[in-house]
Amino acid sequence: MEEKHAAVWKEFSDFLERENAVRTALTLFDWDNETLAPEAAAERTAGAYGVLSALYQELFVSGSLDGLLAKTKALEGLSPVERALVGRVEKERNRLLSIPKEEYRRFSELTAVSVQKWSLAKKQNDFAAFAPVLEEILNMRKRFASYRAKEGQSLYDVLLSDYEEDFTEGKLDVFFAELKKGLLPLVREVSRRQKEHPVTCDFLFQSYDVEKQRHWNKWLAAYLGFQFSKGVLAESEHPFTTSLHKDDVRITTHYYKNNLESAIFSTIHEAGHGIFEQGNDEEVTQTLLGGGTCGVHESQSRFYENMLGRSFAFWEPVYGRLQKTFPEQLGEIPPEAFVRAINRSQPGLIRTESDELTYCLHIMIRYELEKRLMNGELSVGELSGEWNRLYEAYLGVVPKTAGEGGLQDIHWAMGEFGYFPSYALGNAMAAQLYVHMNRERNLEELLRAGELDWISGYLREHIHRFGASKGMEELLTEITGEKLNPGYYIEYLKKKYL
Ligand SMILES: [Zn+2]
Repeated sequence: MEEKHAAVWKEFSDFLERENAVRTALTLFDWDNETLAPEAAAERTAGAYGVLSALYQELFVSGSLDGLLAKTKALEGLSPVERALVGRVEKERNRLLSIPKEEYRRFSELTAVSVQKWSLAKKQNDFAAFAPVLEEILNMRKRFASYRAKEGQSLYDVLLSDYEEDFTEGKLDVFFAELKKGLLPLVREVSRRQKEHPVTCDFLFQSYDVEKQRHWNKWLAAYLGFQFSKGVLAESEHPFTTSLHKDDVRITTHYYKNNLESAIFSTIHEAGHGIFEQGNDEEVTQTLLGGGTCGVHESQSRFYENMLGRSFAFWEPVYGRLQKTFPEQLGEIPPEAFVRAINRSQPGLIRTESDELTYCLHIMIRYELEKRLMNGELSVGELSGEWNRLYEAYLGVVPKTAGEGGLQDIHWAMGEFGYFPSYALGNAMAAQLYVHMNRERNLEELLRAGELDWISGYLREHIHRFGASKGMEELLTEITGEKLNPGYYIEYLKKKYL
């Protein structure tokens, strides 16, 4: 029996090794596209990308995998992670099996060039130029979802299940309704107060030498616990994190000469993602369970960015160093003023520049729009108008250009419909975690003493090591004793801003 077990598991492991090799190549192409590849490369490289994607699909839809999965599932004595991995492979097989080969390849090629087309249209504020591409991506996404939709399941629900399995449209409607009820009056009250007593922040937008920023941000990432022996910090237009495995984790940030804050908070955010990836266990890294589920991933980046990175306690041991790096700009600015500035709240148009308080309203708007796009209640032609209407209703501001409006984010251009809710779920999870961890240790005391090890150790022990083998609800229940409860997040924001 043991021998048979070993032989089957070996065959399954061989399959995993092959699919991982192809997936790694695709990840590297993505990384290269966003960081170093010249603009002219996209169209030609897309062909190679398409072939690799087709190869990836072939591996999963091969008839022999069916028999192998059946044999592997029948094995006794699999660990919970091994069982989760088998389940994950089966889910990926079913997804890929449902899409005709030609269509899958076409979609891969399309999304390999669509990002640059979007980027150009955004620069020129020309929504009409990108609309046909978006239309094609949307239609393919809808068709793919329809191939595997279960009886009575909405197309949007099919996509949501790829990102954070526990959360369906119905559950998210309730979640967002609760957030909206708590947030809208709070945002109005806070912006009324800040209008009466404006927060000074102009010192953040003086001229900051980019080379010095690079140096500082690298130090900051290491201070947070990102290990440079197993990772890199590079630059890209839109900061992101990717990894080949736990010993090769790549994060990016973006430096602006006239904005000190932007790179700092991108670095902290992506370092949060990176620390997660570096903390994966041997068992999950380099498999489909590597990294983590989307919402949980965002909970870690937002935890570092907001709960830690915007607190006064965090900056106490660190701010002097920043002042020394930029004495002309910050020499006369006391830490209190700096922390007040990085916590100002003002309803704005741009999600990635928005403050902690208004951030979820930006997500809510995208959630409503992509849900309606996917479910056929909104057309690409109507998108800009609806975008503007919702911004006025929720945030009291109206975009003047397409770049500030419907072309703002990269996600839809990449075909990622259903990802946005992960950000809001992540924020709520981060607040719930924070309250819970604070009961075990006083986090502010740790931050003030510059002791971040306990925090990263706790997160590794309870979250990072499991990769994507556990979803948000399971993790939260294990750690805090209850499922996701947005009440903690609203309370956290009230306490902080009022
Ligand atoms: Zn993120």
